[in-house]
Amino acid sequence: MFNDWFVLLKKLSKNNYSTKDIICPECGQKNIECIFVGNSTTHIGYLPIWCRSCNKGIQISRVEIPKKVNMIEFGDLEAIKNMIPSFEHIVPK
Ligand SMILES: [Zn+2]
Repeated sequence: MFNDWFVLLKKLSKNNYSTKDIICPECGQKNIECIFVGNSTTHIGYLPIWCRSCNKGIQISRVEIPKKVNMIEFGDLEAIKNMIPSFEHIVPK
């Protein structure tokens, strides 16, 4: 459910976006990944969060990117393609 992902997002932000020990709300595996994609000057971008086990997740748009996290530049299509699978987006019902 979308709400479970929202709870997961809050947990992530508390953990400085470390996905260690974060459990997937869809399948229960500890296989969550996330990476910020955005502009390193304005620190605005989006955040896909997905599960490597069941290939489901959410994408948060227009987020402020924290200074110390890993991120991909908007224009780095190669890195985006390599890092982020095309997962099934869970949407609010
Ligand atoms: Zn999963």
